[in-house]
Amino acid sequence: MIPPLTSDPVSTPPRPPTPVHGFGTLAVHAGSPHDPSTGAVIEPISLSTTFAQTAVGKPVGEFEYSRSANPNRSNFEAAVAALEHARYALAFSSGSATTANILQSLAAGSHVISVSDVYGGTHRYFTQVAKAHGVKVTFTPEIEVDISEHINNQTRLIWIESPSNPTLRLVDIRAVVSEAHKHGILVVVDNTFLSPYVQNPLDLGADIVVHSVTKYINGHSDVVMGVAAFNSDELRNRLGFLQNAIGAVPSAFDAWLAHRGLKTLHLRARAATVNATTVAHALEASPHVIAVNYPGLDSHPHRHIAKKQHRDAMGGGMLSFRIRGGHAAAERFCRVTKIFTLAESLGGVESLVELPSSMTHAGIPRDQREAVGVFDDLVRLSCGVEEAEDLKNDVLQALEAALGDSAKNGIVNSTNGTNGTNGTNGH
Ligand SMILES: *Cc1c(COP(=O)(O)O)cnc(C)c1O
Repeated sequence: MIPPLTSDPVSTPPRPPTPVHGFGTLAVHAGSPHDPSTGAVIEPISLSTTFAQTAVGKPVGEFEYSRSANPNRSNFEAAVAALEHARYALAFSSGSATTANILQSLAAGSHVISVSDVYGGTHRYFTQVAKAHGVKVTFTPEIEVDISEHINNQTRLIWIESPSNPTLRLVDIRAVVSEAHKHGILVVVDNTFLSPYVQNPLDLGADIVVHSVTKYINGHSDVVMGVAAFNSDELRNRLGFLQNAIGAVPSAFDAWLAHRGLKTLHLRARAATVNATTVAHALEASPHVIAVNYPGLDSHPHRHIAKKQHRDAMGGGMLSFRIRGGHAAAERFCRVTKIFTLAESLGGVESLVELPSSMTHAGIPRDQREAVGVFDDLVRLSCGVEEAEDLKNDVLQALEAALGDSAKNGIVNSTNGTNGTNGTNGH
């Protein structure tokens, strides 16, 4: 039995060596050794579930059984560790499995403080699963302001998402870390929305950074995976033990695909930021839009945090906005975009649009949703890496189609041929 997490990792977090090379060089080369036997520049996919031993307990190399470790997963983990300036990274079968492993590492009776507008699946895990093994979670909408009021003797973990989903609010990570560390509490940052290219939470003092690899790190909407990165040896032992014991691990093929995706993360993250910035400016200038949430805009209430936390004050590829005309107009907008596909998820090369109140956040009661800004007229966009001008024009034509004269007369120019407001999206 591994002892529960203590405050030890906080006091003197060992740091990885400062990287000699820049992000793009690390993305391409970290965890990518040439195959020593063939010279293959790209690693082979190692599908073997087991590895030969020359004597009992003496494996040929470092691998024994593929759930415990396999070459593709180890290489991917090494690459993520390099990009997050971490000593260690551990990959899991999904972002949600990563969350589950971290929460599972807490002893029964532990208390967690979380920002209110966490990812829906994280909220579900905190409220419906963690509770079952005796871990209590308190949610706060203003963690920098009232964190100390919520800390008690059992508080072991603080969970931050910055930017939040789907309203793109930012949290001052350093401010939360300095309060948490006074009490020996670990800070976890879900960095999915920005990717390690735009933000490195460990550099801001966080203890663990987590990603849904499904989003920007893989970046091609064809792998579900998660990863946690950190510096402490204690966390390495404890979370590594649970990674193997629980067994929620990615396949070798998925690890290989995600590693391939990661090699272009810097190019994709830059393009997505340029595109989202272009779209955000166009939305801000439109009479059909009530408000735009994008941390790359000077109008964003937390722009000052973006300037100190994000690489080059970048805003990332995600934004949301409130459309005039309420829920019906928002639904029409989602149906008449031609490049943005109506779908959940984010962070892929292709642009997506969704309606949080009816889709990703439909499970949250209306009053709680609206308290954090998720109104029925809020539309979320994930900007991919298409041409900025094409994305801008698509959004502008969709606004016209949803709210222009023709829409007011009830004739909507829809790509799927329907013209009413009887959309059946959401689940
Ligand atoms: C998608 C997502 C998750 C969950 O990841 P899965 O890979 O879908 O399990 C967690 N956090 C954020 C911010 C996400 O966007």
